[in-house]
Amino acid sequence: MPLKKGLFIKPNLSLEGEECHGSNVSIVCPHCKKTQLVFTVRENLFICPLCGHYLNISARERINMIADKDSFEEILVGISSKNLISFPGYDEKLEKSKNESGETEGVVTGTCRIGGIGCAIFVMEALFLMGSMGTVVGDKITCLFEYAVEHRFPVVGFTVSGGARMQEGILSLMQMAKTSGAVKKHGDAGLFYLTVLTNPTTGGVTASFAMQGDVIISEPGALIAFAGPRVIKQTMRQKLPEGFQRAEFLLEKGFVDSIVERKDQKNIIAMLLGCHVKEKL
Ligand SMILES: [Zn+2]
Repeated sequence: MPLKKGLFIKPNLSLEGEECHGSNVSIVCPHCKKTQLVFTVRENLFICPLCGHYLNISARERINMIADKDSFEEILVGISSKNLISFPGYDEKLEKSKNESGETEGVVTGTCRIGGIGCAIFVMEALFLMGSMGTVVGDKITCLFEYAVEHRFPVVGFTVSGGARMQEGILSLMQMAKTSGAVKKHGDAGLFYLTVLTNPTTGGVTASFAMQGDVIISEPGALIAFAGPRVIKQTMRQKLPEGFQRAEFLLEKGFVDSIVERKDQKNIIAMLLGCHVKEKL
């Protein structure tokens, strides 16, 4: 059974959105094109066991993978965008995204413990309009940082995004300034912010809170860009360097501090929190 869009896995849902029991659902790896069981891929942290390709993970799966068991408490729940500028087809897209992702918006926010250390956490949801940032995503990120300042929490954020949400026009663009202001206030309060960039992190999210972490780590091979390589290639009419805008390229240029494999992420994040957090909440 081919995976819808060839990329994403939602826990406890079949690829048509029906209940399944894990092992009876297969997916096609978008890189090597081989079919595998979802169960096998999940056991392997959503990395293709045949070619090592990093598959996208739903926000909830990611939280399960990173947070200490039963420590996640969601905040800013049930908020969803409205079609504020009457953009054609946006209402239908919102509805479809809600059904596909099981979320009400493109980011999940809350608090948890990682390696025993309390933190605020946000994880963007690729299945919801490709994690694009509209007013509600901007609001949730901003409120999470304000909450973190109030409660002296560090923030850990996982990004995956196609950028600003075009269906909300200029209102989506102003989220870049709003979230950046909230990150700045959090930093001014002496609190630690760690970002983990996953594939793809692009556009207005890259140009705001994704790249404002005190430490920025990335998953291997992640596309991290403002404008994507195809747009740049068409505009510049030049051949782009090998691996352009991939995590490894950005590490070499100093935009990313480290590339961390999925199996090591929890330990590395816990270690970084331990180094930077004075108050063990
Ligand atoms: Zn593969």
